[in-house]
Amino acid sequence: MSIANKLIEIKKSIPEKVTLVAVSKTKSNEDVLEAYNAGQRIFGENKVQEMTQKWEDLPKDIEWHMIGHLQRNKVKYMVPYVSLVHGVDSFRLLKEINKQGAKHLRIIPCLLQMHIAEEDTKFGLDKKELYEIINSDEFQSMENIKIQGLMGMATFTDNEDQVRKEFIALKSIFEELKISLPDIDTLSMGMSGDYNIAIKEGSTMVRIGSSIFGSRNHS
Ligand SMILES: *Cc1c(COP(=O)(O)O)cnc(C)c1O
Repeated sequence: MSIANKLIEIKKSIPEKVTLVAVSKTKSNEDVLEAYNAGQRIFGENKVQEMTQKWEDLPKDIEWHMIGHLQRNKVKYMVPYVSLVHGVDSFRLLKEINKQGAKHLRIIPCLLQMHIAEEDTKFGLDKKELYEIINSDEFQSMENIKIQGLMGMATFTDNEDQVRKEFIALKSIFEELKISLPDIDTLSMGMSGDYNIAIKEGSTMVRIGSSIFGSRNHS
């Protein structure tokens, strides 16, 4: 099946209110354009340099989402154009995004990444760290970031019960966080292998790469 057809099939299979981020990391401009021509406008990348190159090369009405682990020294390159930063996993990183946002006179939409998987290899905050950030005076005074919600990645496993449990845990943190941050509306969870479970458990945004573009040689 072509990229366009796979994209259309996936769009049909997810509710309209769930936002699809087409994860185009490692894929060519031609592949992105094929999805673009089939109507897709939101793309996710996990490396700042690759995303910036694609932003320069491709149509300007594409919304670029940074979904990967971010180094603070790379933040400045994407702040002029990035639409949503999914992987904010430390206060230091959030402070850097705020600082660069101020320089560029932008308010940068961010998701805080929670650690929900069993694996230590995945990044993210625990609940204590989450509330340390949002209850701090410095957070209250940050004017150039906007927390739009949470993001998380489940354990890479065939055990659907475990994946479901992790998504349920993230959804519950999200609902609790709404008491402190009533404006949050985005729960980014679900990838090619687990987006159906994620949507059932309350995801509002799925990040799908290989099911649209085919497998990657590296990530
Ligand atoms: C690569 C990546 C995805 C997409 O993964 P697929 O399994 O190809 O759908 C989603 N989220 C993050 C954070 C990723 O790095």
